[in-house]
Amino acid sequence: MRLRYKLMAALLATGLGSVALVGGVAYVGVNYKVDSLRRQQAAEHFYTYMTAYLAEYGDWDTAVATESFDRFVRRQEGERATGSELPSEMLERMPPRINNQARFAEPLPGDAPSPPGRAPQGPDDDFARPPPPPPGVRLAGGPDRGGPGERPPPPRRADGPPPFRFILTDARYRVLLGGGQFRHGEALPENLRESARAIVVKNQTVAYMSADGKLAPTPQEQKYLDALYNSLLGGIAAAAGLAILLGVLLSRGLSRSLSGLTRAVKRMHKGELHQEVPVQGKDEVAALATAFNEMSAQLAQSHTTILEQSEQLRELSIRDALTQLYNRRHFDEQANTLFNQAVRHKRPLALVICDIDHFKKINDNYSHATGDAVLRRVGSILRKHMRLSDLVARYGGEEFVIAFPETAGPQAAALCDKLRTLIEAFPWHEVHPELKVTMSMGVYADIAAGSAETMLQKADALLYRAKESGRNRVCFV
Ligand code: GH3
Ligand code: MG
Ligand code: MG
Repeated sequence: MRLRYKLMAALLATGLGSVALVGGVAYVGVNYKVDSLRRQQAAEHFYTYMTAYLAEYGDWDTAVATESFDRFVRRQEGERATGSELPSEMLERMPPRINNQARFAEPLPGDAPSPPGRAPQGPDDDFARPPPPPPGVRLAGGPDRGGPGERPPPPRRADGPPPFRFILTDARYRVLLGGGQFRHGEALPENLRESARAIVVKNQTVAYMSADGKLAPTPQEQKYLDALYNSLLGGIAAAAGLAILLGVLLSRGLSRSLSGLTRAVKRMHKGELHQEVPVQGKDEVAALATAFNEMSAQLAQSHTTILEQSEQLRELSIRDALTQLYNRRHFDEQANTLFNQAVRHKRPLALVICDIDHFKKINDNYSHATGDAVLRRVGSILRKHMRLSDLVARYGGEEFVIAFPETAGPQAAALCDKLRTLIEAFPWHEVHPELKVTMSMGVYADIAAGSAETMLQKADALLYRAKESGRNRVCFV
């Protein structure tokens, strides 16, 4: 997998993971806070109206016998004309006996019987149902209570958590409203007593209330919540889009820099040592690119130096230090090559051995330094009058060798005689007043000899003949 895709995947996973985490935490947090606020608000309203209810009628039994709580609440609402729907909604959170029996659970089997003296008026009626309303007056909620202008009950939930209900007990924690969980007159469990809130009338606790179940939002609240969740989803989608965009851009930028470096390294591997990659920004990749550029420049510089030095070393290894002509080893190598080429192409080749006459006497008569000067001058004359294709070398001591490619014997002998004349005619008195220098040469130009070495031996024999026949002359075959 390419680094770019790996980076992109890592950035996307990080970005989307963070977005999902933040979105999830925000969703749960909003849900919890809204639910908690609404429960608190509903409980506050119930508490307010229940306190007023009990204060008006003195005690629970009198109150329910006189006016049902839901009618009391509606009457209070009407009197206050607040316009707020919340208290009415609160009634939907009443226990089933007091509010809409169709919405909530059936009464528990064995629920408290009707108080003595009061005739039961239905299967659910025991204590909460008020006296029959006057003709024409209907209570909110129940199947026999929905009238013109009354709000129809919200649809019953088939499943899900139990609906939100209030539980009311008297001052001794005996259940007055069980919320479908407790029977009338049953003692409220200890664990619920701690969280129950006291309803105080005239400085006396007359009842306790607590809440239970899931508080279903009203349609209005649901609209607000839906708008909130939609905004949250929009935010999450925007953040996810941003994460994707940044992931793509960052990974592309990073991988582009690294790809540039990789290409440069490959070019270096092929021998193009001097590479320069663009440096962007000041991050680690930029530092790597800078270091790479410096390294590449140094490497290229070192390579140039090494090449120059190795060329110098090669020159030193093939040159004679005194005359700057090629040395014997290099001449032997080149002479072999030239011989093989001449044989292959059936071309002429002439090899020459030259030897300064009576050089020992020059050393002896005028000093070794003068001898060296003579060697340098002779070398210089030979080099100066050679063609580029010719090869001249100091063979050792005061001996020199020359190879004339593409040159037959007579032509080579003529060239050598010219060289001999030049040496003889050189103004040696400038080196030393009485100095005279001459040279003898043997020229051999028959490749049938079989090798460059044999040709040189033949040339040496001719040189010997030149020495023997008086020196300062050229002998050839
Ligand atoms: P011939 O005419 O028969 O060649 O006599 P020659 O004296 O030239 O020959 P010989 O071989 O007797 O002497 C060569 C001398 O060259 C001996 C040696 O000391 C001297 N020689 C060799 N190499 C160098 C060198 O590099 N510098 C100097 N100054 N003398 C050298
Ligand atoms: Mg000699
Ligand atoms: Mg000599």
